[in-house]
This record gives sequence, C-alpha cells and structure tokens, in this order.
Amino acid sequence: MHKKNKLSRSLVIYTLVIIVILVAIFVINQKENNMEKSNQKAAEAPSISGQPIAGQEGSSISIVEFGDYKCPSCKAWGEQVWPQIKQEYIDTGIASFAYVNTLFHGEESKLAAQASEVVYMNYPERFWDFHNALFDEQPQASLHDDLWVTEEKILEVAQVTIPELNTETFMQDLTDNSIQEQLNQDQLLVSQFNISQTPTIIINNTVIANPFDYNEIRKVIEQESD
Ligand code: CA
Repeated sequence: MHKKNKLSRSLVIYTLVIIVILVAIFVINQKENNMEKSNQKAAEAPSISGQPIAGQEGSSISIVEFGDYKCPSCKAWGEQVWPQIKQEYIDTGIASFAYVNTLFHGEESKLAAQASEVVYMNYPERFWDFHNALFDEQPQASLHDDLWVTEEKILEVAQVTIPELNTETFMQDLTDNSIQEQLNQDQLLVSQFNISQTPTIIINNTVIANPFDYNEIRKVIEQESD
C-alpha cells in the first residue's frame, strides 16, 4: 500500500515535470515566433534608380516591392494590400512605390520579368497597366508550377495594355540579351537585401515582417513621416 502511494506520488511529480517542460517549450517557441514576426532594419533603403516608380519620385518615403509574377502571394498582395497603399499614400503624393523583379520560380518568372523590363524601357507610361494585367492573368489559386507565362500570353497582355505596341520590336526585345542587364540590376538588389520570399515589402530601410498586415505598414509609414 505504502509502495503504491510512493509510486503514484512519483507519477504525479513526473507528470508535473513534463507539463512544466512542455509549457517552457511552448513559451520559448512563441517568443521565437514573435521575434520572427518583427520587422527588420536594413542598413539602407534599396536603390530604386532604373526601377519603375509609381507616385512621387524622390519622396521621403520609399516603398519597394520585391515581387514575382509567378508568385500567388504577390498576386494576392496586389489585390488586397496595394489598393489601400495606393489610395492612402501613393495617390496623395506621400510615398513612392517601386517594383523589383525577383525570380524565384524559374523560366516563367524570368520571361514575365523580361517582358516587364521591355515594357518599362520602351513604354514606361504603360508599365503599371501591363504589370497589373499580367498579374490578373495569373490563374486564381494557381500553384507555382502551373504553366501560364508563355510568349503568346505576354504578347496578348502587351497588345491589350499598349495600344501603340510595335509587336515585332517587342518580341525581338523580349529575347534580346540587353534586357538581361535590367534583370541583373534587380538580382543585385535581391542579393543585397537577402530577399528570401516574395512579396517582400521594404519601407525606406524597414523590412516588413508580414506584408499583408496593413496596419503595420501604415504604422511604419507614419513613423517614417515624423
Ligand atoms: Ca527592374
């Protein structure tokens, strides 16, 4: 009887110890998660020279998106978050917005990015129409590997968004090596800022931990405006 009591007491103690350990692990994990979720500071703001810019160029608040036309989250960000930023900070002249090509999904990312650079180089005033229309073409709920960026699709989007398009030159430029220089410039920024996911949003030198958290974006912009 005495032995049995001792055994159950030990069991209770062991159980308590295990619970304490589990709680400790949970607390530590939570802390790490929170740390992962906090914004990071880069040494400086990304250079947006040579990049397509919406809004007030030379504004004291520079918002930069590292994006990929093949990335479903980038499409979602463009639909859910961008319109609010545009309305509140770009159209009002408070901030500028630049888009940097980030090629994380192979040949299709590259083809789409090349096309966007060709459009920006030759028809800069049509860039954002083309950019938005290309994201519109990304199939809803697509997976990364569903093929949709083709030369035919690119040309179709270009013809719709650029009425003055010279199809022949456009198709030549698309496969021309000179456009590679623009992509290299973007790639340098991707490396410099250690971009590991798209979309990544950087406001001046603050890397936003969760680009879908509009309140956080607003908070950082307000801080930078002070
Ligand atoms: Ca670029």
